[in-house]
Amino acid sequence: MDLILFGPPGAGKGTQAKILVEKLGLPQISTGDMMRAEKASGSELGQKFADYMSKGLLVPDELVLELFAQRLQKPDAQGGAIFDGFPRTIPQAEALDATLAKLGRKVDAVVALDVKLDAIVDRVTGRRVCRACGQTYHVSYSPPPPSGECISCGSTDIVQRADDTEEKVRTRNAKYHEQTLPILAHYEPTGVVKKVDGEGSVDDITGRILSALGKQ
Ligand code: AMP
Repeated sequence: MDLILFGPPGAGKGTQAKILVEKLGLPQISTGDMMRAEKASGSELGQKFADYMSKGLLVPDELVLELFAQRLQKPDAQGGAIFDGFPRTIPQAEALDATLAKLGRKVDAVVALDVKLDAIVDRVTGRRVCRACGQTYHVSYSPPPPSGECISCGSTDIVQRADDTEEKVRTRNAKYHEQTLPILAHYEPTGVVKKVDGEGSVDDITGRILSALGKQ
């Protein structure tokens, strides 16, 4: 199954994708995580990504598509994938459709998480991330342990993302409305879009996603 987890930045796509990896047995393809890893490697390409990311702007399509094409060729993605934060523009959606079609696949479901802007600002400004493994926390709802050690990997390198400030999240939300939201209309005619209430507990939201997919 090829599944797009869709929604504004801070809607919980990454959190849910990590849970769905286990439940559905599919890999998570997060272009944001891949870009942060490239940046951490210190490469020139990583620096280019960082220039856009730090301003809350989208990285140009040609750079994103290169990254995505390489990732989709990996063995773990041959039976489908969970796309998180990709596609973010109509040209990216068209490229995804064309690449999957060549493999005899298609987007089987677009799960659109619906979360109000106030809740997003609260979630994103409180978000903390383990730089070693990507595990996420929230300072109020799921804080890192008092020892400061990551629950997944034990690293103490738990930080706030540079683009997780209120100002940046508002910019990213505006970009989402301008550039990303039209993707829903692109997929709606094929009947694959499933709107899911993205507010509430993590477990409740996972339950709603699985039932929208007919998996529970
Ligand atoms: P995310 O981790 O998905 O919230 O992405 C963080 C940032 O990475 C975004 O604000 C963009 O600057 C960049 N980014 C991630 N995925 C994409 C994409 N598919 N297209 C363009 N920019 C992206």
